[in-house]
Amino acid sequence: MTYRAPVEDIISSLRHAAGLDQALADGACGDLALDDIAAILAEAGRFAGDVIAPLNRIGDQHGTPLKDGAITMPPGWKEAYRDWAAAGWNGLAAPAEWGGQGLPQALNAACIEMWNSASMAFGLGPFLTMGAYDALAIHGSDALKQAYLAKLISGEWMGTMQLTEPQAGSDVGALRTRAERAADGSYRITGQKIFITYGEHDLTDNIIHFVLARLTDAPPGNRGISLFLVPKFLLNADGTPGKRNDVHVHSIEHKLGIHASPTCTMVYGDEGGATGFLVGEENRGLACMFTMMNQARLAVGLQGVAIAERATQQALAYAKDRKQGRAAGIEGSAPIVAHPDVRRMLLTMRSMTQAARDVCYATAVAADRADNGKDETARNAAHERASLLTPVAKAFSTDIGIEVASLGIQVHGGMGFIEETGAAQHLRDARIAAIYEGTNGIQAIDLVMRKLPLSGGAAVDSYIGELRGTIAKLRETNDPAFGATAQRLTEAVDALAEATAWLKGKIGTAPDDALAGATPYLRVFGLAAGGCYLAAEALAAKRGDDGKNAADRITLARFFAENHAVQAAGLARSVTEGFEAVAASPERAA
Ligand SMILES: Cc1cc2nc3c(=O)[nH]c(=O)nc-3n(C[C@H](O)[C@H](O)[C@H](O)COP(=O)(O)OP(=O)(O)OC[C@H]3O[C@@H](n4cnc5c(N)ncnc54)[C@H](O)[C@@H]3O)c2cc1C
Repeated sequence: MTYRAPVEDIISSLRHAAGLDQALADGACGDLALDDIAAILAEAGRFAGDVIAPLNRIGDQHGTPLKDGAITMPPGWKEAYRDWAAAGWNGLAAPAEWGGQGLPQALNAACIEMWNSASMAFGLGPFLTMGAYDALAIHGSDALKQAYLAKLISGEWMGTMQLTEPQAGSDVGALRTRAERAADGSYRITGQKIFITYGEHDLTDNIIHFVLARLTDAPPGNRGISLFLVPKFLLNADGTPGKRNDVHVHSIEHKLGIHASPTCTMVYGDEGGATGFLVGEENRGLACMFTMMNQARLAVGLQGVAIAERATQQALAYAKDRKQGRAAGIEGSAPIVAHPDVRRMLLTMRSMTQAARDVCYATAVAADRADNGKDETARNAAHERASLLTPVAKAFSTDIGIEVASLGIQVHGGMGFIEETGAAQHLRDARIAAIYEGTNGIQAIDLVMRKLPLSGGAAVDSYIGELRGTIAKLRETNDPAFGATAQRLTEAVDALAEATAWLKGKIGTAPDDALAGATPYLRVFGLAAGGCYLAAEALAAKRGDDGKNAADRITLARFFAENHAVQAAGLARSVTEGFEAVAASPERAA
C-alpha cells in the first residue's frame, strides 16, 4: 500500500485549527500566500509519495549493517536523500542568509509529517539535522557558522544530537562524557554515547555531531554541561572534510522498528580525544540543546501524526477491499467497512490522527508567531503558547501514533499480524516515538511542572478560554448535525479546567501528588484541545472555507466529541483522585 499525502487535511488543519490564515494576515509568515503554501505542500506530497514511500519496506527489511566501522544505508536511500536535499527540502525553514529558504516553521512541519509518513526512518535523520543547524545558527560562533552552517542547511552534511549515556537517559545531568580545554581553543572529548540516531551512515561525506559533555572543572548536574560540535572529519583549510576525528561508531542496536535509522553507540577518544568546538558558553550547553530539543520534540510529535496517517490510509483501503459476512443493503459478502465496529475503528483512526495533527500545527504556527509576531508582547505570548503545547504535541500525538497503528492491524485481522501487509511495521516503527526525545512521561511532567506555571498560570488559562470560544461558536450554529458535540466538548474543557486548577494548587505544596496525575492530565489536555480543533475545522467547512465535504468534517468532529472527548472527565478524576493510591503503592519501597 502506497502513501498519498493528505494535502487537504493538512491545509484544513493549518488554516482552521492552527490559525494560519490569521498568521498570514499578521505577517508572521513573511509575504507568503495561501496558494504558495498549497503548491509547496503538493510538491512535497509528490516527493514523499513517489520517491520516499517506496523505500519504507526496503529499509525495514535491509536495516543498516555495520562492517569495519562503516554503515551501509539500504538500497536506494542514498539517491533519494541526495535528490531530497538537492530539492531544498532540508533548508525549507532555515535562514536565507545561510542558503535556506526562510519559510515558515508551520510549512516545514507539514513537510516533516509527509517525509515521516512516507518513511519514519528516513524522516528522522533530517529533522535532527534541522534541530542541529538551528542550535548552531542561534548559539554558534561566527567561525563555526562559516565552517558548518551552510552545509548542514543544504543537507550536504547531516547532524546528530548526542545526550544519552548508559547512566544518563531521562536524567541528562548524570552524563559523564568529558571535555578538556586544548591549547588551540578547541576541546578534547572522551567518553561514550549510546542510542545515537544516524551516528554513522553513508548518506553524506561528513557528519556533524552535537555532543553534550562536562568540563573537568564543571559543577555537577545540569549546570555543568556544555555543548560541542564534533565533526566526523575535521575540515581542511579550504573547508572540505580532511583528517578523521577521534569519534567512531562502536556498535549498532537491533531494534523493534525504524530499522533503517542507524542507532549507534559512539566512542570518543580511543586515540586521545576527539576535537570538539564549543557551541555557546561553557556550562550553558543545556540551554543550547533545548533549541534542538524543542524543535525535535515537535518533529517527533509529527512522527506520531505521520505514522497514524499512513496506518489509517492503509486500513481504509483494506477495509473497502476485504469482504466478510453480511451487511444490511449489500448483496452477497460485504466489504468489512460496512460493519459498524470496523467503521468505528476507522473513524477513531481518522479523527485521532486529525486531532493530533491539529495540536502539532497549532504548536508550529505559535512558533512562527513567536519568531515574527508584530511586537514583543505578541511574540512573548506566542512563545508561551508554543512552550505550553510542545509537550502535548509530542506525547499526545505519539501515543495516538501507537494506538492508531495498533488499530490498523486490528482492521486487517490476521493479515495485520503478518509482516507482508506492512501494517505491523507501522506499529513497530511508531513505538519509539513515545520514548525518545524525552519519554512521554517526562513530557507530562514538563507540562505540569514547567508549563502550567507560565505567566503565573495565565498562559494555560488563556488557552482554555480560547477553547471555550470555539465551543461558543459551535453553539451559535445550532446545527443538529453536530449532535451533542458542543455539550461533550464543554464537559471536556470543564474537566481540563478543573484538573488544571487542582494541579496548580498542588505544584508548590505537594508536587508528588501532581506528578502522579501528569500523564492522564496530558491526555485530558489533548482530548479537549483536539476536540475543539476538529470542531473549528468542521465549522469552517460548513461556512464553505474548505473544499472538503462539510458533512464529513462534522461527522469527524462529532464522532471524536461523543466517543473520545467524553473520556476527559474520567481521566480528570484520575488526576484529582488517583494520586493517593499511587502514593500508597507498595512498589515505592522497592
Ligand atoms: C531508537 C532510539 C533512538 C534514539 N536516538 C537518540 C539520539 O539520537 N540522541 C540521544 O541523545 N538519545 C537518543 N535516544 C535515547 C532516548 O532519548 C532515551 O532512551 C530516552 O530519553 C529515555 O532514556 P532511557 O532509555 O535511559 O530511559 P530511562 O530514563 O531509564 O526511563 C525509564 C522509564 O522511567 C521513566 N522515568 C525516568 N526518569 C523519570 C522521572 N524523573 N520521573 C518520572 N519518570 C521517569 C521514563 O519515563 C521511562 O518510562 C534514542 C533511543 C532509542 C531507543
